Parts: sequence; C-alpha cells; structure tokens
Amino acid sequence: MSETRELIIIGGGPAGYTAALYSARANLHPLVIEGFQWGGQLMITSDVENYPGYPDGVMGPEMMADFRRQAERFGAEFLTDDVTRVDFSFEPHRVYVGDDEYEAKAVIVATGASARQLGLESERQLQGRGVTYCATCDGAFYRDLEVIIVGGGDSAMEEALFLTKFASKVTLIHRRNEFRASQIMLDRASNHDKIEFVTPAVVEEVLAGDDGKMRAVLIRDLDTGETRAIEASGLFVAIGHDPTTALFLDQLDHDEAGYLVTKPGSTQTNVPGVFAAGDVQDHTYRQAVTAAGSGCMAALDAERWLAALEGHEGTALTAPRPEAAEV
Ligand code: NAP
Repeated sequence: MSETRELIIIGGGPAGYTAALYSARANLHPLVIEGFQWGGQLMITSDVENYPGYPDGVMGPEMMADFRRQAERFGAEFLTDDVTRVDFSFEPHRVYVGDDEYEAKAVIVATGASARQLGLESERQLQGRGVTYCATCDGAFYRDLEVIIVGGGDSAMEEALFLTKFASKVTLIHRRNEFRASQIMLDRASNHDKIEFVTPAVVEEVLAGDDGKMRAVLIRDLDTGETRAIEASGLFVAIGHDPTTALFLDQLDHDEAGYLVTKPGSTQTNVPGVFAAGDVQDHTYRQAVTAAGSGCMAALDAERWLAALEGHEGTALTAPRPEAAEV
C-alpha cells in the first residue's frame, strides 16, 4: 500500500488531464491513473477544429499528448494502467490497479464515455478517414459531399438534420422500420428534402477508395436480404454512447443509462470527496472543451474539499463552499 495522497484522478481524457493540470498547479501532487489506452475518444479523431486555441486545427491524439504534457510539467504523476476496483465506503478512498492499492482523500472520476460502434473491422480501419461518431465535430468536413448516418434515436435525427447544413445528401440507415426517436425529431428529419431514409437495413462493410479514405458503404436490406453499395464520403455512426462507469455503479449515484449524477452546479457525487467530470457525467454536450471545463471544476471542487477537511480557508477561489460540499 502506498501513502495517502491528496488526490487521485481516474481517467486520461480532456477532463482528467485538465483536472490534473489545475490540481498539480495547486500543489496537490495528483496521481492520474490514466488507463492503458489513455487519451479517450480523441484518439480516434483526426482533425479537431473546434477546440479554442488551435486556430489551424490539431490532430486528436496530438492534442491529448499536449494536454498530458502540460499537466506533467506541473508535477502530475501518471500511471498508464486500468483501475480494476474502487472502494469509496470509507476515508481515505481506495483505488486498486490489480493487487496494488492507492489511497487518497479526494478522487476525481473522469473515465469518459465511448460511442457505440457497429463492430466491423472495416469501420475500425477507416476511423478518422470517413468513419466518425460526432457530427458536431466533423460535419463541416463534408461540405457538398454525400454522407450516411446510422441510427434510429434522437441523436441520429438531430445529427442528420445538423449534417444537412453541410452535406449535399444525407442517407439515414436504421435496422428497423420503427424508431426510438421522438415523433417531432423523426418528422423533422423525414420531411427534410436532403435526408433519405433507408430501412430496415444494416451496414455490412465500409469500403475504402484508392486514397485509403472511405468511398461507400455496403448495406443489406433486411426485408429482401439484398446487398448494395451506397457511395458516400462520410459515415456518421449515431447509435448511442456508453459511459465508462461499470466500476462505480455500486457506489456512486447514476442515472438509468449509467451516467454518474453530480450535484447541480458542482462536480460532487453522492460520496463526499469523490467528484465526477467530463462525459462520464454528461450525456448532453460531449465535447472536448466542455469535458475540459468540467475537469477544471472538479479540481477546484476537490481543492475546496481538501481545504475544508484540513480546517483552513484556502484561497478565495478554494475556500470551502458549504453549498457544494453538502450532499
Ligand atoms: P438511443 O436512443 O439509445 O438510440 C440508439 C439507436 O441506435 C437505436 O435506434 C438503436 O436501434 C440503434 N442501434 C443501437 N445499436 C445498434 C447497432 N449495433 N447497429 C445498428 N443500430 C444500432 O441513443 P441516442 O439516439 O444517442 O439517444 C440517447 C438519449 O439521449 C435518448 O434518451 C435520447 O432521447 C436523448 N437525446 C435527446 C435529444 C433531443 O431531445 N434533442 C438529442 C439526442 C439524444 P434500435 O432502436 O433498433 O435498438
């Protein structure tokens, strides 16, 4: 067992690294257990054009390496491994990586979420080269091009409508003739003259052109069993997200979909001293910049918590905030 730390941050995406940067600069010497595959969803993104401060855009993996290096510069420590178990039932809180136990007075959970994938090998190979999971992030790259969107929920409808601002045509593929989407969203999408619905159908393969980028998808009509190719430059997969919360569900309050619940206006969970930041507690915005903002909030909340625990007032910024500390 190691010494009791002030703060452990679980997760190595925009939220975790921003929490690490802020807390390292506040001399909390955070240990970031960043996951074996650190970087989060940005590691499967190519160009990022909507993160402020990168006027020429940046590749997702490069941006995550920048985030990490910036936190490291101020003394954040990193453990590139996966947390296997946590015990928040008493203080200090305990975090396990296999048989190794780590203790901390405060913990920030920033394990993110992942977009559901279709599960095709060709989909994986063309990620960042036509296959994407975020219309808000990547829609603008498809100006005057034809794109395909997969899904039958509100996200698919919303993203299809968003994509009509750029794309010349949007083909929406869904595996059933019934939709999970709300009627109003479904009506808006199905009445749009740029959106064509193809149902019931599934994507069987994503096809690459000679340039290594996606050129078409092979779909199978579930009524007739026939397959055909639809030419398109982009495939937007919008079949839902899953928060990475399996480790926490028995200890932290969560909603039906498994997202952690934090106190409004704060990152405090139901367990004092445990905070949640980024996509693990946000199924609405899901942007790198909002995750980073919430990582900053979690670091400040943790600072306040630790200052209160030690019985001193902290700085004006980190002074205990009773309304945020009570759960
Ligand atoms: P969702 O409601 O779970 O819908 C996922 C869709 O993807 C379903 O149509 C599902 O098909 C399909 N799907 C799942 N796995 C698939 C696979 N392997 N292959 C093909 N299709 C697959 O997810 P969501 O649309 O992301 O929405 C999540 C929540 O956020 C919902 O509560 C939604 O109402 C809410 N939301 C609201 C708004 C809004 O109000 N503006 C916008 C976005 C999201 P089946 O139906 O056949 O299972």
